[in-house]
Amino acid sequence: MKIQKILNFNFVSATNQEFDSVLVKRLEDRQNTFVVTANPEIVMYARSHPEFAKLISKSTYLTPDGIGIIYAGKQLKTPLNERITGYDTFLYLLQVAQEKHLKVLFYGAKPEVIAALEQKIKTEYPNIQIAGAFDGYLSDSTPVIECIKNTQPELVFVALGSPKQEEFIDQNLTLTTAIWLGIGGSFDAFTG
Ligand code: UDP
Repeated sequence: MKIQKILNFNFVSATNQEFDSVLVKRLEDRQNTFVVTANPEIVMYARSHPEFAKLISKSTYLTPDGIGIIYAGKQLKTPLNERITGYDTFLYLLQVAQEKHLKVLFYGAKPEVIAALEQKIKTEYPNIQIAGAFDGYLSDSTPVIECIKNTQPELVFVALGSPKQEEFIDQNLTLTTAIWLGIGGSFDAFTG
């Protein structure tokens, strides 16, 4: 897949379809995959926090989620193909999980949002095996970590906002072979 450097970050420059296919292939090949979906705020934060910059540069794929990243690419004469948002990728992977009966873990958002999400998944995506669904306001993440270890989900969606979600993924990436996706406010959008 084509990668384009913007301000020293390696962005995916592909269509959504190409990117989705790569993710499905990695799922089939059982390759652990960390996806960061970046908006300009994340890039600016990374530029002033070297540890975070290092963390996102370790991700498998960094996608241009925000339109601002697309504009920056144009401006700097290193254009990207198109926006690849966390939300669209989330919806696509849910569909794949429904088709392939995948085991999925959801972590993040307010308790009432995660409860609504769990309900919606059960009715609209009945083949998905819900490994766990945890809200993002737990005093510590030990129950989530234990659940990942015990259930070995194939998809892990983390919606804690940035940089928390990327830090959580980075710290726990070796616990299961999965596609790990940091997706900001996507659970709110999904249930809203
Ligand atoms: N969130 C969370 N725990 C926290 C802080 C935020 O679960 O400690 C959730 C929040 O409820 C929301 C999501 O993180 O569902 C993303 O928040 P935000 O809209 O700030 O992120 P963005 O989409 O801008 O990255």
